[in-house]
Amino acid sequence: MSETSWTAVDEYISGHLLKPDSALADALRHNATHGLPPIDVSATQGKMLMLLAQMAGAKHILEVGTLGGYSTIWLARALPDDGRLVSLEINPDYAKVACENLNRAGLGRKVEILTGAALDSLSNMQPSTPFDFIFIDADKQNNVNYVEQAIRLARPGATIIVDNVVRDGGVLDASSDDDRIVGTRKLFEHIANHAQLDATAIQTVGDKGWDGFLLARLR
Ligand code: SAM
Repeated sequence: MSETSWTAVDEYISGHLLKPDSALADALRHNATHGLPPIDVSATQGKMLMLLAQMAGAKHILEVGTLGGYSTIWLARALPDDGRLVSLEINPDYAKVACENLNRAGLGRKVEILTGAALDSLSNMQPSTPFDFIFIDADKQNNVNYVEQAIRLARPGATIIVDNVVRDGGVLDASSDDDRIVGTRKLFEHIANHAQLDATAIQTVGDKGWDGFLLARLR
């Protein structure tokens, strides 16, 4: 099956299971106007994240890698009224666009965006309430560090999801000098026999190409 077919199937799925959504469409338009790269999760993936967070009963969500807040909107929608989401973004221009998108989507009061290198922000965090759902989607070379910080900051039973772990099959290339592939392979090796995590990964195809999510549960 070709990439064109994957996109057509994504459109079929969206046409049936996702409603037209002006807040999300506005956010993508606003991102494009401000020159943000279109590397957000797809609509079907965003809805999957929202549903998983709802199924987990998440009240306290952490996101690493905000971009313009497209995935943040989906995740924040999973929260109850008193829920909170913290999202980490290194690029202040992207963080500003994300704040605007979240405010326009009516979610600004539930979301805090921390600007700076995510590892610094994470190292400084001592939350009074641990996170129960964590979505990691930033610089892939730091994925092992992000997962370890997520474990430090999460409650037992928490969900940890890492995006882009297949990379067009690039994850198989042991000789790759692509930092993102090296980081992804290190992540698999790190989690393989991790004492605190049960994990799997699922390959995905769609309008964002061939990739995948790693899904882990903290014991
Ligand atoms: N989760 C977003 C979505 O689906 O809408 C997409 C995130 S995009 C793939 C990755 C983001 O991580 C970019 O906005 C990038 O600036 C940010 N990023 C890269 N390195 C980072 C770092 N060291 N700390 C924090 N954010 C970082």
